[in-house]
Amino acid sequence: MALIKCKECEKQISSSAKICPHCGAKVKKIGYLRRFLIIFFVIILVLITYEEFFNYGTELTFNKGQLFYTSSVSKEEAKKLGKYLVEQDFFDGNEKTVQLNKAGNTYQFRMVAKKGVEKDPVIIPSMKQFCRELSWNVFDGARVEIHLCNSLLITKIVVIPE
Ligand SMILES: [Zn+2]
Repeated sequence: MALIKCKECEKQISSSAKICPHCGAKVKKIGYLRRFLIIFFVIILVLITYEEFFNYGTELTFNKGQLFYTSSVSKEEAKKLGKYLVEQDFFDGNEKTVQLNKAGNTYQFRMVAKKGVEKDPVIIPSMKQFCRELSWNVFDGARVEIHLCNSLLITKIVVIPE
């Protein structure tokens, strides 16, 4: 038996009491079924949010490189990119994670990058060049952006070709 606070007079009463012995107010309790349902819905909500947040897409592996592609991109496009990244030695046998997404007509090549990598003066120009190369060689001239992301694939910096 536990002690709870009366909602009316805020004095401590037994959790099994139906009426507060101090003020006579009715003690309302959340039933087990209701409590169970509340917990159940909270768990579902957390799972949905987690899924949304960490849904990187479908995974393909190329030479130990992980390539996730979202539902806005076809498997063929993802495979073409993966093969190209192996040819270019981007997927060089070390573990790397990239994600391919498409927003409107723009392909987003999202990659995990170390924090502060943009401070290296050669990184941004070479990324811009890489955008153009991806556009020409993989995406039939469509616009490509590179997103430098943290390890959770959350965009930190967007590199556009211009
Ligand atoms: Zn009371």
